[in-house]
Amino acid sequence: MSLYVILMGVQGAGKGLQAKRIETRFGIPQVSTGDLFRAMRTRSDALARKVQELMAAGILIDDDTTNAIVADRLAQPDARNGVILDGYPRNQVQAAFLEAHLAQHGKSVDAVLLLELDLYVAFKRAFGRVTAADGSSYNCYYKVEDVEFNWLADESGHFPPRLAATRAGSDAPLKRRPDDASADAIIKRIDTFLETTQPLIDYYAAKDLLRKVNADQSIEAVWAEIERALGQG
Ligand code: AMP
Repeated sequence: MSLYVILMGVQGAGKGLQAKRIETRFGIPQVSTGDLFRAMRTRSDALARKVQELMAAGILIDDDTTNAIVADRLAQPDARNGVILDGYPRNQVQAAFLEAHLAQHGKSVDAVLLLELDLYVAFKRAFGRVTAADGSSYNCYYKVEDVEFNWLADESGHFPPRLAATRAGSDAPLKRRPDDASADAIIKRIDTFLETTQPLIDYYAAKDLLRKVNADQSIEAVWAEIERALGQG
């Protein structure tokens, strides 16, 4: 049996976290196109450099490049029983490619989970986020006791203040994703999401594959809704 799940939701809706849970529960890997593109950071060829430039500005990578990277990932042995797609498809060209690609292998999309979140909450979740080396993440707008947050002014006055965070008992600074550090880039991503996702929502709703989940609740409550949506709750 295979399971192809598409996770949709604005940046900060908690897709990454919930994808990890689906991964554990159903034994299928999460395929995040954002992660696949970020992994290209270590490469120095022209394509990789171009991808980094576009990502830093919050602009989408072209469909041919994106589709090719996804097809390559779906052909890996760990993806033979399905995947959780996170950040893909982002538009109808990509959705059509995915459908045709899966059909060639006698497969199809089983469910599209839409994690719904208020857009201002979405902005804060991305802009305030920092991550530790062990993968745990924190947010300056949702404080926890053992993490200290500071906005450090730029002495030259040319850049906005930088968010610095440290965790008690550790000297290692918590890291902020470069594309989370730019308010412009986040707003651009939210705008792009709104523009490109609505047609996809309609497309999958018409196929009766869309499952709406309220993402503005605890991680556990969101997960319970997802399990129900996938028929396992
Ligand atoms: P994400 O981590 O999903 O927010 O993606 C970060 C960045 O990667 C986006 O702003 C785009 O530049 C690029 N990206 C990720 N997924 C796609 C996609 N399906 N199509 C085009 N560009 C993408």
